[in-house]
Amino acid sequence: MAENPFFAPSALPYALPNFGEIREEHYLPAFERGMADQLREVEAIAGDPAPATFANTIEALERSGQILKRTATAFFSIASSDATDGIRKIETEISPRLTKHGDAIHLNRALYRRIKQVTTETPEEAWLLEKYRVDFVRAGADLSESEQERLKGLNEELTRIATAFPQNLLTASTASALVVQDVKELDGLSASTVKAIEKDGTYTLPLLNFTNQPALAELTDRRTRRRLYELSVNRAPENFDLAVKLATLRAERAALLGYPNHAAYSVADQTAKTTEAVEEMLGKLVGPAMANARREAELLSEEAGFPIEAWDWSFYAEKVRKARYDFDSSELRPYFELDRVLRDGVFHAAGELYGITFTDRDDLAGYHPDVRVFEVFNADGSALGLFLFDPYARPTKRGGAWMNNLVDQSHLFGDLPVVMNNLNITKPAEGPTLLTFDEVNTAFHEFGHALHGLFSDVRFPRVSGTEVPRDFVEYPSQVNEMWATWPSVLANFAKHHETGEPVPAELLEKMRAAEKFNQGFATVEYLAAALLDWAWHKLAAGETVENAETFETAALERAGIAFDLVRSRYRTNYFAHIFSGGLGSYSAGYYSYIWSEVLDAESVEWFKENGGLLRGNGDHFRSTLLSVGGSKDALEAFRDFRGRDPRIEPLLERRGLA
Ligand SMILES: [Zn+2]
Repeated sequence: MAENPFFAPSALPYALPNFGEIREEHYLPAFERGMADQLREVEAIAGDPAPATFANTIEALERSGQILKRTATAFFSIASSDATDGIRKIETEISPRLTKHGDAIHLNRALYRRIKQVTTETPEEAWLLEKYRVDFVRAGADLSESEQERLKGLNEELTRIATAFPQNLLTASTASALVVQDVKELDGLSASTVKAIEKDGTYTLPLLNFTNQPALAELTDRRTRRRLYELSVNRAPENFDLAVKLATLRAERAALLGYPNHAAYSVADQTAKTTEAVEEMLGKLVGPAMANARREAELLSEEAGFPIEAWDWSFYAEKVRKARYDFDSSELRPYFELDRVLRDGVFHAAGELYGITFTDRDDLAGYHPDVRVFEVFNADGSALGLFLFDPYARPTKRGGAWMNNLVDQSHLFGDLPVVMNNLNITKPAEGPTLLTFDEVNTAFHEFGHALHGLFSDVRFPRVSGTEVPRDFVEYPSQVNEMWATWPSVLANFAKHHETGEPVPAELLEKMRAAEKFNQGFATVEYLAAALLDWAWHKLAAGETVENAETFETAALERAGIAFDLVRSRYRTNYFAHIFSGGLGSYSAGYYSYIWSEVLDAESVEWFKENGGLLRGNGDHFRSTLLSVGGSKDALEAFRDFRGRDPRIEPLLERRGLA
């Protein structure tokens, strides 16, 4: 095991993990040595006879656990993007042990005493010290010995269940897939899709991670649509019980830590701060959104000639879009070729705004042949970091799209960032990869997160890049979506993959007009998920749930968002955002997307008021907001950028809820 690549820093440029050398059998020994090393380092900090200082306590903690960090960063990236059976076994084994390890540090009384004795000299130090203090209190540092024992038990059990939940989903995406023998039942799907899902005369359409499967917009056979929809909403039924267990254990943990419920615990260190603030915000949106969705439903039933059901919605929405707006979204696909979208769209917009440039680094490898590596440079030619791009869906990849860091930027270590984006685009059997407009938008969104990581310019890893409150982190990525439809950007990337012809102006006009349509659906689908998450995490300790599905229905009724035709974007059984990912998930945090969108809508307005896609605007956004990461108060950074507190009006306007 002398060659374990995690034992020494990677020698590759930017300390990119050496995926070519990393084998599955390296992970466990590296985790074990990493945890042991860090515990020794922490013991030394806690037992230091010298008086506690910022340098010998907080900074020393920031420096600790290097092997563990390298190992965990690479491992969890793989566990999301390419989770083979071997990786999943390791994840199941290591996750509870990592939780135990975290508890061993946070519940170390001597260490906590020293943290409380530290004094600071700069605002940056004071901010970081306070973060550490809050982390320790929220992890149970102030509890009695016996309470801490109970907490450790809860944490371990929570981690175990939250690891099983997404693993069940990964299995269900194919286990509950729509399987068809007679290709006629798939009428409406494109020839390339049909070809890509065919094997030995059987057609298998895997489930994507949300309720409303995209194929529902295309399948002409109503029975097939219904089957697909029901497979989607009923997948992984064993997860209902896991959800109940997670929610009740979280309630118990919150009570132990002095909070009335997990939601209160969860928002206390967010920008929202209180459950009331979240409820006030969501409450403002429910009524108008439901009214919009009901109006849309009437229109769709009129178009169908019968009262539509949930599995008909997308199909008739697409028809109305064609009839009313003369717009067929599939007409756009030939203009959205993946490589062009990335280089001439996503990279181009970032180049215009921030002056950055990208170079292919085909000499550097990811963990899978489909992963591409780019080196990113500032306008002055100085190195900024690496960007890895993993666009395609595969059976070993979890659903959705996300950004993660492989190396955190920090001046403490002199590290430049290595960040990556994952998408879930179906790889065509042959020929170019053509995207839907949603997928284009997602590519811009995820790159917004990537920029937040790449532009990080802070001293300490703990506050690097996207290490900001969860109800703030979606904001920069949402802002970056605006450039997907910015005329000069769109003109630059939306070219026909065969002819190179630009996308016809009238098609774009129609797309813009049609974009406003179906907003009721989108908002209700989202709000239902946010309010479902909220209901699960408002449980008080000791409250029991007999039946998860009954609970779900009642919760949505109570919140005024129950609507048979538009169900939650995620039902309880596949709500991975809130029931997976150990302790760092989006539990009681799904509201964050619309919370962040308030800031997003404000910022889009600012860019437009100031001339849009201009280098000066980009530089202002970068210096005030993107580069500071979590090194200062998030709303203060927003005020530095916008020059005022956020207002909700631009969001209401945008969503048609004003
Ligand atoms: Zn995001």
